[in-house]
Order: sequence, then C-alpha cells, then structure tokens
Amino acid sequence: MTGIDAWWLLLPLAFFALGWLAARVDIRFVLREARSLPAQYFRGLNFLLRQEHDRAVESFVDISSRDPHALDLQLALGSLFRQQGKISEATRIHQSLVDRHDVPKDKRELAQFELAQDFHAAGLFDRAEVVYESLRGTAFEADAEARLASVLEQEKEWDKAIAARQRVERLTGTPQGRIIANYHCEIAEAAFLRCDQAGMHSALEAALTHNRNSGRVRLLQLRAAVKAEDWKVAEAALSELERVQPELIVLASDDVESLFRGLGQPQRWLEQLAGVQAETRSSVGLSRLIDASLKVEGREAALRRLKRVLADQPSAREAARWLELEAQVHGQEAAETMTAVAQLLRRATDRTPGFHCRQCGFQAPRYYWKCPGCNQWESFAATPLS
Ligand SMILES: [Zn+2]
Repeated sequence: MTGIDAWWLLLPLAFFALGWLAARVDIRFVLREARSLPAQYFRGLNFLLRQEHDRAVESFVDISSRDPHALDLQLALGSLFRQQGKISEATRIHQSLVDRHDVPKDKRELAQFELAQDFHAAGLFDRAEVVYESLRGTAFEADAEARLASVLEQEKEWDKAIAARQRVERLTGTPQGRIIANYHCEIAEAAFLRCDQAGMHSALEAALTHNRNSGRVRLLQLRAAVKAEDWKVAEAALSELERVQPELIVLASDDVESLFRGLGQPQRWLEQLAGVQAETRSSVGLSRLIDASLKVEGREAALRRLKRVLADQPSAREAARWLELEAQVHGQEAAETMTAVAQLLRRATDRTPGFHCRQCGFQAPRYYWKCPGCNQWESFAATPLS
C-alpha cells in the first residue's frame, strides 16, 4: 500500500474529528449563552426588587436585544410600570422596541399601542394622538381608535372625537350614538355660552340624530328657550324631558320655575318637582321640592310636606331644615337651641354627596355628564334618600 492510499484511510477519521470539534464549539456557545442569559435576567430582577427601575430597564432592554423571546417579558414589564404610574420607565421600554428594526411587526405594533397609552397616561395628548392614529390598518386599530376618542374628549376636540367614535362604530359594530350625542351637546353648550343660538340649535339637532331619547338635549333646549322667554318651546322641551328622562328635571329646577312663573302658573313648578320626587326619591329632589314649596305655598305647607316625606324617608339634611323652619315660630331661647342643632346637622351632612356614579360609585355634590372616576358618559344619578 502506498502513502497516498494510506491517506485515504485517514479521511473518515478526519471528518469525525472535524464534526466533533464543530459540536464542541456549538455546545460551548450554547452553554455560554445558557449561563449568561439567566444571570442577566436575575440582575434585572434584582434591580427591580431594589426599586432601581432605571437599571432594571437597561438590563431587560439589553436581554431582549439578544434574546427574541425576551420581547414578551419587556412588553409585560412596560405595562406593569405604567400601571404603577412609572410612566417614564414604561415609555423607555416601549420606545426602545418601536425604534428597533429586528422586532417582528406584530410585536412592534403592540409596543406602539402601549407607547401611545404611556403618552396618554402622561398627559402628552398630542403625542398619544399621533401614535394612536399611526395604528390604523393594524390589529390594534379599533382599540386605538376608542382610546384616541378619549384623548380627543380630554382635549375638547369634539369634531375629531365624533369622527373617531364613528370609526369605532364601523370597526366594532358597537353603537356609539349615545356618546356622540353628548359630544354634540358639548358643542351646543359652548355655543350657548357665547350666545350663538344658530350654532347651539344645529348642534342639538345633530345630537338628536344620534340619540332621539337624549335628556341632555331637552335640558339644553329648555334652558335656551327659557332664556329667550319662549314659553311654548320651553314647555315642549320640558314635556319631552319628562317623557325621556324625568329624573333629570331636578337639574333644571330654576328653568322650570322661570317657565311656570312666565306662564303665571307657579303651582305647576311645584307639581312637576313633586311628581319627580314621588318617582325617584332623591335627597337633591327633596331639597328642590321644599325650596319650591316654601316659595309657592309658604312655610306651613312646606313644613307639612317635609314632615310627610321625612316620616317615610329620613334625611339628616332635611331634618336640619325642619328645625330651622320650626325655630321661626318659637321663643328666642328655644329658637337659638334649634338653630344651633340645625347648624350642627348641616355641618355633619355638608359632605353628603347629592349624586353618584352608577358604574363606579364615584360620589359628588354636583352632576357630571361624564364620570370623573370611570370616564363613563351619563352614568351619574341623584343619590336616593336612604
Ligand atoms: Zn364612574
């Protein structure tokens, strides 16, 4: 056998050696990665536990640039930071994902959606608006559009908010008419304040095309007609309000008084409030009713009404009024004591809210068309007497 022949015999051995070497290199690489990755995770976790959020963010951003599976971790962390009110940390995480070109499209769009929410939470409405708009045509379009509408509400950009709600309705099939009607009412109220009657009228008409049963529209129509002393239109608006949302009449007690005084029938103001109170039995309604009764029927009749209602529905606030009214016919000493007790009762009930949100329970002394607690439209109601 020649030397050349012998070399051929060594070939399989050479291939085996090369394969073994390649495998070793590969295993070493994998082992190094496996050892380094958990260390980085734990380092990030440690920073997180020590409340060193900046260093935790750096650590996790570094992991995700080397490990594509860490993207989900980063997204989860970003949401967590935002929920805890750490908006700048959340923004840094989401912005770093949006800026990277190696992140898959679906993950980058999710990061974009999260980033828009960070801007929204930070009150950076202009930037939130731009990012939400950039999500049109993506899987997040419908959610982004609804959130965009909420940004535009906060900016009082009613026309743009209406367009956004219409897109939400098209994309999701969920009716948005009640909310859109409120946007038109906001436009109408602004027009009313600057004495733009034509602007107010057209905004209210537009609101009705979205919600025929809007009590807010009827309230505004009533207010405008009373201001113009157009009693016929005011009466028609009140009768519509009574048909669609009679409980809202307590919000328009002054306008109803002006209307019936204008018609020379103040007794009807009282009847209107008594009718609402019989149905809704709220503390605000009772207060308005006794105010009206004192003005229209006088002290004696008002007291009789008050006692009748309080026997059935106790109210510390109105009990104070009872004492004050009774004090007027008593001698000085007794009157002073009764007035003092009435004042104590009033102070104790001063913070009793007249209205509450049916969705989240937020309480307030005044009515809100949009709940400051949960941002729901028309979720407020007069709090019933206990
Ligand atoms: Zn609420």
